[in-house]
Amino acid sequence: MSKGLIVITGASSGIGAATARLLSSHGHPLLLLARRIERLQALALPATLCRAVDVTDAGALDAAISEAETQFGPVDAIVNNAGVMLLGEMSKQYPAEWQRMLDVNITGVLNGIHAVLAGMVARRHGTIINISSIAGRKTFPNHVAYCGTKFAVHAISENLREEVSASNVRVITIAPGAVETELLGHTTDAAIKSGYEDWKQEMGGVLAADDVASAIHYAYSAPQNVCIREIVLAATRQP
Ligand code: NDP
Repeated sequence: MSKGLIVITGASSGIGAATARLLSSHGHPLLLLARRIERLQALALPATLCRAVDVTDAGALDAAISEAETQFGPVDAIVNNAGVMLLGEMSKQYPAEWQRMLDVNITGVLNGIHAVLAGMVARRHGTIINISSIAGRKTFPNHVAYCGTKFAVHAISENLREEVSASNVRVITIAPGAVETELLGHTTDAAIKSGYEDWKQEMGGVLAADDVASAIHYAYSAPQNVCIREIVLAATRQP
């Protein structure tokens, strides 16, 4: 049987790119989305459609998914992975930074879910994988807005599962600890940034994006009647 179409948001770097490589190696056709289309195309994966889509633009997301379904058949799974982390001290942080995290990390996830859910419910088949964070389970210094968005991803996933479980749609939350990616690069506070890098060094390193991709594939590849609801994974030495 041919493998189903998987949509990955934020596939231009880090966890999304690693997941795209792994799922492609297992024979899945893919729709890869991010703003930097050249980075998606540079992955050079077979049976893959790349589109420059900002996940906050629901219309663009819907259009790309329709196009991919015409080419590859119905969406079997979506990995709502696109996210930004702008760490900051609440009294000093620019409100535009919170807004960006709310827009990408929460609205972007909701847009991704909405774009595929009606089809999955109608077909009584499908998997929604939301990438949260260990920062959606516990709090950390300078993470007020980011933790807020990731706690929201957990709540959205839990509540969505209650809504769609009777329709045989799986909802999975993946919550990684620190991972070596470009994520920290967008934080504008230099002291917080270097403090975070020191913390990583003190732990002796963090997860690789491939570690998270393996967890995503593990959860996805369970039989359709098994829903691995949540995986929290972190470097062994992360407290
Ligand atoms: P990266 O910064 O390497 O990747 C983030 C991805 O999100 C990029 O592909 C980026 O693509 C995309 N993205 C950002 N904004 C948008 C947007 N508006 N529309 C579409 N795509 C967007 O970080 P990670 O791989 O680490 O992050 C992936 C997910 O994992 C995030 O949700 C993050 O919160 C989560 N996570 C990461 C951890 C870590 O320590 N790295 C730990 C726990 C969770 P482009 O810029 O091309 O649009």
